Amino acid sequence: MLIDNHNRTIDYLRLAVTDRCNLRCNYCMPENGINFVKSDRLLSIDELYRLSKVLVDQGIRKIRITGGEPFMRKDLMILLRKLSAIPQLEDISMTTNATLIGNHILELKELGIKNINVSLDAINPETFNRITRRSQFETVYGNLIKLIQEGFNVKVNFIALDGQNTDDIIPILENLTKHYPVSVRFLEEMPFNGGSKKFNEITWNHRKIFEHIASHYPSISKISSEKTSTSINYQIEDFAGTFGIIPSFTRNFCGSCNRLRITATGDVITCLYANASKNLRDILRGESSEEKIKEEILDAIKHRAKNGFEAEKRNKNIYENSMTSIGG
Ligand code: SAM
Ligand code: SF4
Repeated sequence: MLIDNHNRTIDYLRLAVTDRCNLRCNYCMPENGINFVKSDRLLSIDELYRLSKVLVDQGIRKIRITGGEPFMRKDLMILLRKLSAIPQLEDISMTTNATLIGNHILELKELGIKNINVSLDAINPETFNRITRRSQFETVYGNLIKLIQEGFNVKVNFIALDGQNTDDIIPILENLTKHYPVSVRFLEEMPFNGGSKKFNEITWNHRKIFEHIASHYPSISKISSEKTSTSINYQIEDFAGTFGIIPSFTRNFCGSCNRLRITATGDVITCLYANASKNLRDILRGESSEEKIKEEILDAIKHRAKNGFEAEKRNKNIYENSMTSIGG
């Protein structure tokens, strides 16, 4: 079992498989992208699998595949097939922009992958295309509905962006949550955008998001959430789905954090607001790698910051990072 220096059990790995993306969301990266890493610095599918296996041996029970856009990796399904054959792994989930997932939906279902988070920051196509700097709304929306219809447990991630998409908060609830069994989660914006926009506070924090929604719907009830959940979840009376609010910038959920992040280059990140504490790529490419990886992981989790504020203080230049490298 992996237990950190604050007595938190770590059983959830967020594994980024690439830093590349076919969208250019303006809250995530600059218009021209970031300095994407060369292919030989990315972990291969075999390395991602071996690393996952070692971590499952150490107690990881849930892996979320993220990126960049995971489906930018042509060999992604090979990894998913291998991971789905690991018996101790209870949950393989994905976070995707849903532009490229269409042809894989049926195989994902066959592999037993149930939980898919789709990023959709607007219900108005023009707003969506302006934020993502590409014209993919129809594809994303079509794939989202297909995932719901195929019975996946779908969560939609919507980042509340001041001056950009907050007019879409109520329409997305009306359009999706009212009719479909989805959870639409509203997240606070974080300043991990590759240095393109700096800020120390946000207008649309979790309170403002909630007040905005509550002023439209008099009958909202709080629903129970898992202890390690980052979202506070609610039901609007007579709606098929639910909604959640994730205070990702306010960071009041760190006490129960059960997550470890590994980037596509093998960096180990023990807190979203921390820089990488180790890199595992060379170790994976060397001899006796499994034992060494175990040692490095144990060492990393024994030096975790207590919360995102402590991590932020300890680490310099974290706000130059882009979420496409960190994995969200
Ligand atoms: N490309 C995939 C996607 O967009 O779903 C997976 C990677 S993306 C980096 C993972 C999550 O991070 C997405 O839900 C995205 O909206 C979120 N994200 C990216 N930049 C963010 C930021 N600056 N603040 C808050 N969330 C962010
Ligand atoms: Fe790509 Fe996801 Fe970042 Fe948007 S949020 S640019 S889809 S990695």
